[in-house]
Amino acid sequence: MTEPIGIYLHIPFCLSRCLYCDFVSSTGDDGELSAYVDRLILEINSFDTGGARVKVDSIFFGGGTPSRLSFSQLGRILDAVRAKFEVLADCETTVEVNPATYSEGYFDRLHSLGVNRLSIGLQSIHENELRALGRRHTYSDFLECFASARQAGFDNISVDIMLGIPHQTEASLEATLSELIRLAPEHISAYMLIIEEGTPFAKMKDTLALPNESQERKMYFDTDNRLISADYCHYEVSNFSKRGYESRHNLKYWTLTDYIGFGPSAHSCYLGKRFYNTSDIHAYMTEDFGNIRFTECDGAYGEDEYIMLKLRTVYGFEFEDFRRRFGYDFREGREDELSDLELFQLAFITDRGITLTPQGFFLSNSAIVKLLK
Ligand code: SF4
Repeated sequence: MTEPIGIYLHIPFCLSRCLYCDFVSSTGDDGELSAYVDRLILEINSFDTGGARVKVDSIFFGGGTPSRLSFSQLGRILDAVRAKFEVLADCETTVEVNPATYSEGYFDRLHSLGVNRLSIGLQSIHENELRALGRRHTYSDFLECFASARQAGFDNISVDIMLGIPHQTEASLEATLSELIRLAPEHISAYMLIIEEGTPFAKMKDTLALPNESQERKMYFDTDNRLISADYCHYEVSNFSKRGYESRHNLKYWTLTDYIGFGPSAHSCYLGKRFYNTSDIHAYMTEDFGNIRFTECDGAYGEDEYIMLKLRTVYGFEFEDFRRRFGYDFREGREDELSDLELFQLAFITDRGITLTPQGFFLSNSAIVKLLK
């Protein structure tokens, strides 16, 4: 294997649970967090790379709330990764941050560990919207956190916002976007709220003051227009960046490059195999790793996965690459579907390949399903 891989580290602990969230996380105390760090390091140490000293060019601490980790806990985990893998000098190392966990001096110390990218969860600048989501922080917490990160020398910061959330209006979203553009983070993720089964929002669904479908659609395109006019590139369905600041880590998922995930619910794609860990934190802490890691698929990506993942980004795919992998011309037997996508301006199709348009991104699932055989 020549291409460097990505490492994902799941930190399943939060201060409290946001009402819309279905990620694997708990509100465990500091003692549980400390035991978890030991277990995560054990998993990294015991991972069988197949004898190779594997090159790594992205490390991503996601969660959960990785910024609940202390400086020394983060350092120990990074040491374990560096001992097991060959971490390249220019490795993109990201930590997700909840502004509610921010404390003075934290970012200086993080920077000194080699962390060079932060992903801060803002969601909205409006207190009523933040409260409705169950977020623990205020907008002023975020501003303090962002300024302190800049001061510590972070020149690659991503900020998450959400669209289609309770109480959001086109005007309130516009204010959130204006503030973001003023602050000029290098990367912005704009996620549409999805009400997931099993979350408090699923139970409250009928009482939530949610925007309707056409307002949601308008919010998506307003976001697209505003950010593009501020020099951001809309490079993936929900992601925007300044040139050269695309998330190296997330691109691995969409471009079918290998990655290894550690921690409960983490997924991996490594040496032609895909596997994932149990979501059960207790089982993760107590069972043999061999018993809590499950095979998802043995073998290369299939046609459907290739199409679904590749079309999530503006890079799409080239017909020649598809032919090399699957042995036939992608356009064969899809003539009607492709001409419909062009007619409705959902895709750009050239002699070389295909990508979705912003309209195609918005309808990505239904646009892509048309192309699956
Ligand atoms: S902080 Fe993030 S992971 Fe934790 S509950 Fe909220 S949305 Fe979920």
